[in-house]
Amino acid sequence: MYKNFNEFGISDKVTVSLSEMGFEEPTPIQKMAIPPVLQGKDIIGQAQTGTGKTAAFGIPLIEQRHEAKGRHPYAIVLAPTRELAVQVSQEINKMGARAGVVSLPIYGGQSIELQIRSLKRGADIVVGTPGRVLDHIGRKTLVLKDIKTVVLDEADEMLNMGFIEDIEKILGGIPGERQTMLFSATMPKEIIRMSKNYMNKPVHVGVDASEMVVAKIKQVFYEVRDEDKIKALTRLLDVEGPALTLVFCHTKKEVDEVAGRLQQMGYPAGAIHGDFTQSHRDEMMRKFKGGDIDILVATDVAARGLDIPDVSHVINFSIPQDPEGYIHRIGRTGRAGKSGIAITFVTPRQYRQLKLIEQSAKTRIKKAKLPSREEVRKAKEEELAVSVEEIIKEGGHTRFYAVAKRLFEKYSHEEVSAAALSMLLDTEDIQEIEEPVTGYAGQKKDSVRLFMTIGKMDKIKVGDIVKSISAEAGIPERKVSNIALFDKFSFVEVPADLADRVISAINDRIIKGRKVRIQHAKKRERR
Ligand code: ADP
Ligand code: MG
Repeated sequence: MYKNFNEFGISDKVTVSLSEMGFEEPTPIQKMAIPPVLQGKDIIGQAQTGTGKTAAFGIPLIEQRHEAKGRHPYAIVLAPTRELAVQVSQEINKMGARAGVVSLPIYGGQSIELQIRSLKRGADIVVGTPGRVLDHIGRKTLVLKDIKTVVLDEADEMLNMGFIEDIEKILGGIPGERQTMLFSATMPKEIIRMSKNYMNKPVHVGVDASEMVVAKIKQVFYEVRDEDKIKALTRLLDVEGPALTLVFCHTKKEVDEVAGRLQQMGYPAGAIHGDFTQSHRDEMMRKFKGGDIDILVATDVAARGLDIPDVSHVINFSIPQDPEGYIHRIGRTGRAGKSGIAITFVTPRQYRQLKLIEQSAKTRIKKAKLPSREEVRKAKEEELAVSVEEIIKEGGHTRFYAVAKRLFEKYSHEEVSAAALSMLLDTEDIQEIEEPVTGYAGQKKDSVRLFMTIGKMDKIKVGDIVKSISAEAGIPERKVSNIALFDKFSFVEVPADLADRVISAINDRIIKGRKVRIQHAKKRERR
């Protein structure tokens, strides 16, 4: 069923535009979403980035044109970022070209006067970011009374970006007799709640993120301290020599730092996040696709919705916030039957988050060991040897023959070549990475590590700690394990579900004449 777009019963003008765009067959989400939407039903669509969600709502939107009543827009699409607004609007304009549908993007950052003029000229479908849309509503330059359909595109990202109130305000101002569509890559609770309040018996279509994990993606994690992450990243880049790498960071600041450090060290890296201008981002994407840079450092929001080519490595420099985010990040690799590698950096205190991701996403992320200095050295030497061979083949070295001959009068060929190579590669420079000392590798499942401000200097012993915790918190002694005593503090492990009980029982208690503070162990504490 639905092998062709015309099987949906849509107008010829639209199918012709679609074939001009090179769309031959509807994608799965389009097959699932278009029929109920054409029937006028509210819909919640969930599918990964790059699966064709824009056309899934865009085609029915264009088809609704003949029902449009007045001169005001009959549909509005809300999107989280200006480039998505622009991208969606462009796609709708292409699909609606022959049907005569006009879509207009309105977003912050562009002159409001310009947008006011465009809105006056008339638009059928407005695609906007929530803040700017509200702004226009307030100025009465955008009138919602003829709106028949609302689309929330990338709803989860809009939520993450704090647009929920704006969205609710906008929805509140739209006639109740409307069709509402919500598209999102993930379905956090807030979205479900919003859909209940603002949608009318929505039909759910799509693929559950947990079913989307692709077996072809090799998933590993490395336990790294925050301060060692850059070193770990470069080590992996050196040894694995990935073709195209996408590095995910949590914040814009982190993106800047990571990309900056990589560039300083001579890695061909670029960065994208929301603070860059549109033209900078376009430039980055062009370079990445063209191979001028092969490492792209990005935030989730910046990468979301962008047409990024299949990458060989996805590196979660910062662990994703939630399991679905993880799936969506790693889905950037291993496409179309190719294999991919997904790497996640985990600091000791994020270990539980990793386990949660594994459980919810029903996937296995194996612990791996970072390449040793020796392996990095070998990889770099190998690369150097390849470069030398290339130079010899290209003949770019002949002008140094005279110097070489002079040196050979005094030294052997090995000595001279090795000395020359040593100028190119400083393998002493490869830095040490310490294993996180909190040793989560051997930690029991579902136990957590706590940090206590009491130690050897307080003349406390392992047994004392076990007894105190057991007595104060009322838990069996055997539940307290892996005690590590240092001079002024110590670590203990307790079952995760008892941690809060232990903390409240022990915190501010006097032990061995000392008021003790206890808390979840943060990253590695130095000895
Ligand atoms: P999403 O919103 O799910 O991330 P998009 O709507 O941006 O995905 O679509 C991703 C890419 O696939 C775009 O370049 C789009 O033009 C293209 N595309 C969408 N539907 C089809 C189709 N049926 N056939 C071919 N290409 C398609
Ligand atoms: Mg999209």
